Amino acid sequence: MKNTSYCALCEKRIEIANDSREHIIPQSIGGRRKIRSFICIDCNSRSGDSWDAEIWQQFSHLAMMHGVDRERGTPPNIKIQTIDGETYLLLPDGSMTIPNATYRAEQSEKGLKIKITARDKSIAHKMVKQAARKNPKVDLDSFLSEMKATETPLESAVTFSAQFGGELAGRSMVKTAVALAAAAGVSPKSCDSAMQYLKGETVTPPYAFFYLRDLVTNRPSTHALNCVSVVGLPARRQLLGYVEYFSMSRIVVILSEHYDGPTLNTTYAFNPANASELALSVDLNLFDNELELIRTNQASTDETYAAALNEGFELIYKRSQSRLLEREASNAFEHACESMGLPRDSIIPPERAQEFSNLMANHLVSKIAHLIRR
Ligand SMILES: [Zn+2]
Repeated sequence: MKNTSYCALCEKRIEIANDSREHIIPQSIGGRRKIRSFICIDCNSRSGDSWDAEIWQQFSHLAMMHGVDRERGTPPNIKIQTIDGETYLLLPDGSMTIPNATYRAEQSEKGLKIKITARDKSIAHKMVKQAARKNPKVDLDSFLSEMKATETPLESAVTFSAQFGGELAGRSMVKTAVALAAAAGVSPKSCDSAMQYLKGETVTPPYAFFYLRDLVTNRPSTHALNCVSVVGLPARRQLLGYVEYFSMSRIVVILSEHYDGPTLNTTYAFNPANASELALSVDLNLFDNELELIRTNQASTDETYAAALNEGFELIYKRSQSRLLEREASNAFEHACESMGLPRDSIIPPERAQEFSNLMANHLVSKIAHLIRR
């Protein structure tokens, strides 16, 4: 028989009718694991609408740049600006595009010249068709077959602010640590420092950003991570949490300094790009001086913070490069098929393989030359 549960936040008794499945890490940034009988349905939606919503506000750019894989719902495109003041759209897969298509028609002695700038070929095709309808003299088929497309890569740097934490997002991250502790069998009541903050009984955050050293001992080098980790050290009476989002925002949460439960070490971590779980190990055996710096919110310096941000941006860059390469490889394949008059799904005859690979290679080199230059 299961014990009676009470909502960790409002202490109402949880029954079937008001139970909720709370995401341990918000689903907007890729969290999958859920916990039942942790908070009631009202507290779930209230904290979701304020605390977790602020997480999305702060991390949406990073989430999209990493192509976050959500359990449900695709995030809407986000407008971003380059340092030159141009506006682009950031798409959920992390790619960027121009916000609005433009159309310009010029009448010359050779006929009508149309210049379209659009997000992709299908939009450009649609616009040509619309133009043709208005202009009965236009021979649509010859127009489409003569259409030349050029792609412009985004060269300029993009600006966005990387400010994490604050009252709302901070509470979401603390709740995440308490939720993982609860999932591991620790009553939220044992997370006394964290719960006082979540319930508004104290305004002093029980957490601090931590960049003094990397607490993740087996950090993947090829992709970002989202994680929450909880360690219970009864000999030191400590129950500590660690929450990291997109490799950039890293906090240590002091859940309790009166912990007398069993020794505990549990982590939920995943790659936000595909939600696959990671066997991450987090070292929360902190030195006394580190803990003191956390209590006084001094566990971060400009240099160590900047280093973590750089590391995070490096991962975004790697990801966008490999996505670009993938796309260009697929374009090169299509180009080679088209040039040789082969359908896309055909098997390339062995005697034409050399010709095919030359076509692909030439196309690819012309497209990725700017990457190599960089
Ligand atoms: Zn409640």
